[in-house]
Amino acid sequence: LQSRRYVGFDLGTSGARISVIEQEEQDQSNYREVHAESIKWNGSDAYDDANSWMNAVHSLLRGASISLGGLNSVASICVSGTSASCLLMDRTTMEVTRKPRMYNYDVIGSTKDDKNAKEAMELLEKHAPPKHTARARTGSLAKLLTWIKEEPLSENEVLCHQSDYVSQKIMGKSTELVSSDWHNCLKLGYDVKNTKWPTWMADCFTEAGYSDALSENGILPLEIVSPGARMGVIHNEVARELGLPDDCVIVGGTTDSNAAFFAAAGTRPAVGTAVTSLGSTLAMKQMSHEYVEDASRGVYSHRFPSFEESEDATWLVGGASNVGCAILRKLEFSNDELASLSKEIDPTKDSPLEYYPLVKPGERFPTADSDKQPVLEPVPADRKDYLHGILQGISDVERDGFEVLQELGAPPPTIVWTCGGGSNNDVWSEMRERRLVTKFDNPDIKVKKAECTEASYGAALLAAATFIECR
Ligand code: ADP
Repeated sequence: LQSRRYVGFDLGTSGARISVIEQEEQDQSNYREVHAESIKWNGSDAYDDANSWMNAVHSLLRGASISLGGLNSVASICVSGTSASCLLMDRTTMEVTRKPRMYNYDVIGSTKDDKNAKEAMELLEKHAPPKHTARARTGSLAKLLTWIKEEPLSENEVLCHQSDYVSQKIMGKSTELVSSDWHNCLKLGYDVKNTKWPTWMADCFTEAGYSDALSENGILPLEIVSPGARMGVIHNEVARELGLPDDCVIVGGTTDSNAAFFAAAGTRPAVGTAVTSLGSTLAMKQMSHEYVEDASRGVYSHRFPSFEESEDATWLVGGASNVGCAILRKLEFSNDELASLSKEIDPTKDSPLEYYPLVKPGERFPTADSDKQPVLEPVPADRKDYLHGILQGISDVERDGFEVLQELGAPPPTIVWTCGGGSNNDVWSEMRERRLVTKFDNPDIKVKKAECTEASYGAALLAAATFIECR
């Protein structure tokens, strides 16, 4: 008997990726990736074209089918997309009516005349709570209100995020509802605490001329599920076309950085589990019992997927700093030099240098200060000492970040999984660990390199988690 398999898709910034996983026989809480493949967006397949997304899904499934000898055992599929990338489609024909506006699309300045966008932003400023994450000019609500201002909605138009659209296409017209999930809908304004659309949104749409926006045939997705919760079943024609079984389940999707968290930490992490991304910039996410928010510092909480009705809500709290590994590139430390110099650093000793390693002025988290200046002086004669000071400076920002999250109500970290270029540096991990152990007075805090960080793998874990829990 073939074990069940679970598929995760990641539609990312540079390409799309599929992961197919199955449960380990020996250890049922573990999954192994039996197939993975990625494709890059190129000229004809653009990152911002809904047809490209579907072409990618088809071609990645074909590849998986060839490599695995068929897809008959695929039980469920989960799609992760870039955050706040959305389009409008006709709910009956499923044709795209307004082309995708992607994660980085700023409504102001993206069209020749942004009068409509400015009016949309005025509506948001009037109705959305101060500093609400949905007020962002790149958020899905700003994009939607701009569309409404540009051209009146037709009766059948409905908003889909990138991940909703792909899921919906796979479910085909077997459902009249357009569904979405807690993660994708956060930047659209969804109230994740009370799991409903807030009244300020209704007021906002009413003023824009749509009093029934929140109704059954309104512009918003109607059923907002937990990421990973069953959303529907594959359409039988699509199943035949893609070689998937007729009872293949489509589960609620997620966003790329949350999917990366699941990849690194799993879908059942204990409270206190954190993931730090040490790429060009430093970003951290942590599991918390408390909902934590501080809009002035860009700290907000995603609702963690829940697999049982009775479960108390838990939260994925996050913050992102402007410091990070970008400074290493700027100061011309090559990856080889980073590896060799780091070996000479003693991670048990503090550097006397007190740097704040920004590439340019301005910080958002742990302190919001648009004038915060980089501190990278004095420059020692020895490159190794220089690097020691920089790595320590970034480690201090991470430690202070966890401290701020704790002050706001999150627990102290217990284990910090690391991804991104900086995760390859064990000496640095040791420096970071020592700082957290000292700060939180807990010798058991660990900093480790994450084994897997691909968002597609995280999405596949979500697809599997729900299926296993619901059996
Ligand atoms: P991005 O955010 O651009 O995707 P990556 O996650 O690819 O970044 O990380 C690249 C960064 O990692 C570069 O800035 C590089 O300087 C840094 N990096 C690579 N190797 C090391 C290392 N051994 N120690 C510290 N930083 C490293």
